[in-house]
Amino acid sequence: MPSNSLDNTIDLPFPKVVLASGNLKKIQEFETLFLNSNQIIPQPELGIESVEETGLTFIENALLKARHAAQESGLPALADDSGLVVEALDGAPGIFSGRYAGSNATDLDNCQKLLSALESALNRAAFFHATIVFVEHAMDPDPVIAQGRWHGEILRSPRGDGGFGYDPLFYIADVQLSAAELSAAEKNHRSHRGQALRALTHQLNIRFQP
Ligand code: IMP
Repeated sequence: MPSNSLDNTIDLPFPKVVLASGNLKKIQEFETLFLNSNQIIPQPELGIESVEETGLTFIENALLKARHAAQESGLPALADDSGLVVEALDGAPGIFSGRYAGSNATDLDNCQKLLSALESALNRAAFFHATIVFVEHAMDPDPVIAQGRWHGEILRSPRGDGGFGYDPLFYIADVQLSAAELSAAEKNHRSHRGQALRALTHQLNIRFQP
């Protein structure tokens, strides 16, 4: 795929869906995935605050976020819960990726903590995980759920300034670039979030289109 074209192929079988995220960089990334970015309304635009992520799994947290956004907006909702899973850290930071260095941690704080934790580690293997959930309404008894995984290695120092979160530390061997050095299209094409959203859309199309 040409690196400057957007991989914006996602078209949900619903005219309007609330996106249950308050993370502006994540919202921007989602917007580049949709054929028509007006189809998704980020929850901050509706004045909806983030819900506390009290689950023990990606799926529980994604469901909490989706149900909360659907309840508050009266619209179908889409939520992603994602994180970085590092082999040498027994799967940490995992579901705690956004708050690895504390509840008000910045991306930089989290990256610095990760580099310290892996200072002497030879095994740098890691993957990003995303679980994406769609609910038609807050009490939906049969949410649509999809997952994606993206494997890579943790660098010893940051590279690149694109993306967000741990992207500058996430190295993709076959292109010899960090995730922060990829174009938005290249990241979407490969990423856990892109994979999960494409799988989710496939399921939605089977369920909701005649
Ligand atoms: P969530 O908003 O609770 O799903 O938290 C996800 C956290 O995982 C983010 O704040 C990042 O720290 C990390 N993360 C998830 N996806 C990515 C990604 O695509 N690139 C870099 N970091 C990510």
